[in-house]
Amino acid sequence: STPAAFLSAIAAGARRGLLFKGGMALEALARVRVVAMDKTGTLTENRVAVQAIHALDGTGPDQVLGLAAAVEARSEHPIARAILEEARARGLSLPEIREVEARPGLGVIGRRNGDRIWVGSPRLFQQEGIALPPEVHAHLKAAEQAGRTALLVYDGRWRGVIEVADRVRPEAVEAVRALRRLGVEVAMLTGDHPAVARAVAGTVGIARFEAGLLPEEKLERIRALAREIGPVAMVGDGVNDAPALAAASVGIAMGRMGSDVAIESADVVLLQDDLRRVAEAIALARAAMRTVW
Ligand code: ADP
Ligand code: MG
Repeated sequence: STPAAFLSAIAAGARRGLLFKGGMALEALARVRVVAMDKTGTLTENRVAVQAIHALDGTGPDQVLGLAAAVEARSEHPIARAILEEARARGLSLPEIREVEARPGLGVIGRRNGDRIWVGSPRLFQQEGIALPPEVHAHLKAAEQAGRTALLVYDGRWRGVIEVADRVRPEAVEAVRALRRLGVEVAMLTGDHPAVARAVAGTVGIARFEAGLLPEEKLERIRALAREIGPVAMVGDGVNDAPALAAASVGIAMGRMGSDVAIESADVVLLQDDLRRVAEAIALARAAMRTVW
């Protein structure tokens, strides 16, 4: 039977937009020593926007964007949404690409009449064994210096580089500070480039961060943090966070803009995507457990 203290904590959470999937989540939350946060869509708003398009090899910017948008059409990643939004704003008609392979944490690969189209991070191309020419490297370096994420578009020819950027959530700094006040350590885990990661971590006040992580690597880092510090809560929004959310002592998902897989993998859901609720959830859980332990 669920102790009364649990029920009242669950009800108090619900009033603040916190969904606890049962008493076990509360018990685990009360013990949390470190919170690991994803970057894109978690510490940053889910409002990634296209900042620049660099067309290469005689291709026009709209063509680069249209090609990328066609491949991203079914992806729910914040970057995909940004590319589609920009394509829509420019009134582009997109070629239909039915066969698409998602590579979580890397990008997407589309297939049209036997031709393949790659859209994603430099690491995607490294994995695919596709070497980057100097002009692509130059654009990557410039994007990196501006703290932006660069996506490469290639279909056998280098079509272009799309720069995207997102904004840090307004409540992120306060949310991190509130966790520290509870004596909880905070870390950031991201699949994005180290330069972008460093900029966001600096803005929100997180000293401990790791970049360029694939979904399984995020999971490994959760285990490493657990060994080093103690019980870990992971906060994430994406398909790429699902393994880490499941492996953490407590998985916490963004409820509004988070992907279904993230929400299913989590023990706690932030119904309004407000990061300050993470510290509140831990405080609520500790108070509830004090009456039980
Ligand atoms: P985070 O861990 O910060 O949420 P992800 O692991 O989702 O980031 O993505 C890591 C990187 O992989 C992105 O910065 C981007 O370069 C690339 N990427 C992931 N998904 C896509 C996509 N749908 N389209 C293009 N690039 C993608
Ligand atoms: Mg994310």
